[in-house]
Amino acid sequence: MEAKKITKVVIAGGGTAGWITAALLNKVLGKSLDITLVESAEIGTVGVGEASIPPILHLNGALGISEKEFIKATGATIKLGIEFENWRSQGHSYMHAFGEIGKDFPFCAFYHFWLKANQTQNAPDFWDFSLNYQAAKAHKFAHLKNIPNTQLAGLHYAYHFDATRYGEFLKELAQSRGVNRIEGKIETISQCDQTGSINALKLEDGSLIEGDLFIDCTGLRALLIEQTLNTGFEDWSHWLPCDSAVAVQSESASNAIPYTRSIARESGWQWQIPLQHRVGNGLVYSSRYLSDENAKQQLLNNLPAKPLTEPRIIKFKTGRRLKQWHKNVVSVGLSSGFLEPLESTSIHLIQSAAIRLIKFFPHQGIKQNLVDEFNKQSKTEFERIRDFIILHYKLTERDDSPFWRLCKGMDIPSSLAKKIALFKTSGKLVREDDELFAEVAWQQVLIGQGLIAEDYHPLTNALTDNQLNELFSNLKTLINSTVEQLPSHSEFLEKIQN
Ligand SMILES: Cc1cc2nc3c(=O)[nH]c(=O)nc-3n(C[C@H](O)[C@H](O)[C@H](O)COP(=O)(O)OP(=O)(O)OC[C@H]3O[C@@H](n4cnc5c(N)ncnc54)[C@H](O)[C@@H]3O)c2cc1C
Repeated sequence: MEAKKITKVVIAGGGTAGWITAALLNKVLGKSLDITLVESAEIGTVGVGEASIPPILHLNGALGISEKEFIKATGATIKLGIEFENWRSQGHSYMHAFGEIGKDFPFCAFYHFWLKANQTQNAPDFWDFSLNYQAAKAHKFAHLKNIPNTQLAGLHYAYHFDATRYGEFLKELAQSRGVNRIEGKIETISQCDQTGSINALKLEDGSLIEGDLFIDCTGLRALLIEQTLNTGFEDWSHWLPCDSAVAVQSESASNAIPYTRSIARESGWQWQIPLQHRVGNGLVYSSRYLSDENAKQQLLNNLPAKPLTEPRIIKFKTGRRLKQWHKNVVSVGLSSGFLEPLESTSIHLIQSAAIRLIKFFPHQGIKQNLVDEFNKQSKTEFERIRDFIILHYKLTERDDSPFWRLCKGMDIPSSLAKKIALFKTSGKLVREDDELFAEVAWQQVLIGQGLIAEDYHPLTNALTDNQLNELFSNLKTLINSTVEQLPSHSEFLEKIQN
């Protein structure tokens, strides 16, 4: 394994992955590293990826980007959660709202009280106790750390934003802070005869970009990690059968709503992501059950307003690179694997891989145990998110199309099967290996998809039925009165940009 000190980092590719990695590496380790990014305008970027999850606030914070400049630069809106329509059954909907639900007790999360009520009486709706859900549905938002005069959590949020504009913004930022940018198409890659490590990228114009560590951000092409190093890919399409997407932008029909819509269709699902200046739309589908032409038509027939662009087809294979870091190449972004955008996790995976690289940065030379630990953590992270996404499909009650019958009947990873069984029989949920999605996210998708646990925590018996009703009623009053006082989402957006 290489012992060479790492001072020169070359990033291949300038999509969201390339520029996030460049900006973060530069911010944290810029003083000791020479960072060069190569990108090709002719090849371009994947051009989608507009919904995020709350950790993006930390990314912007770490990069020193204020919320005001981010929202202005990217046409962003607020995202309080994702509404899943027709996923459980046609006409049914629920939300994976960010933030907390109800009030947890020591040793016993709030949902156990709801599970108990659900068994013994006419339970209120679970989302009556989600501040995020109630604010989302009322189209309201403000910065709110806590529900006023209580310890209860306030609003948790992320953004919908124009990913191309975000890339441009990060490009300017990173360059102004010292990242070198080279425009050019990588034509060949030179490797060390002995170790197989990469020495340099050769561009179409003949120039040679040498480096110690290469970061593959070339998107689905995976030019370095796969096309050059043949690292291998673990295919998960038997669990996540969608392999195509068609994307189109449309005009905004009305004021932007502060949540993403995910609408299950006959052979996949449609996204609607409202930005300030337009709506991002797409249909993710399985080509086994829907042709590209029919997918385009289905999407165009279901737009909220007039299309602004031509529909564009994107093909992908779900799974992950066997080693995210191999020799002196670290893959970040789509080159490292693909998970469909159902829970808006890809940009987060970029952020997380870049942070992991910083934590494990091999400044004294690449050591195999460092690489192995990095790869172990990346694998676990991907697998846990994969399971959460599969959950939405597996728990459908739909049997109205071959696609949904396949999803309902398919085998699932044993890690997910165990988690579902534990919840079903005991109401217990465990957050494993520091996984991205917390119990409150799993609660909402499990309950939203119609899986109600058979048991609940015995601590709930400490409350009489009257006390339980009083708890529910007080929480609802608090949440409703808090939402009433919030400004509208559009008022918030207007104010923050002035
Ligand atoms: C349909 C769909 C919807 C998505 N929605 C979401 C979402 O809502 N939220 C989310 O978080 N993520 C989403 N994603 C994922 C998100 O788009 C990507 O994670 C993100 O854009 C990062 O892409 P990337 O930078 O890895 O690749 P790309 O954007 O493809 O960038 C690749 C870069 O490599 C360069 N390149 C490639 N080959 C060469 C070469 N030979 N020479 C020089 N340069 C080269 C290209 O020019 C480009 O700059 C979605 C993805 C898809 C497919």
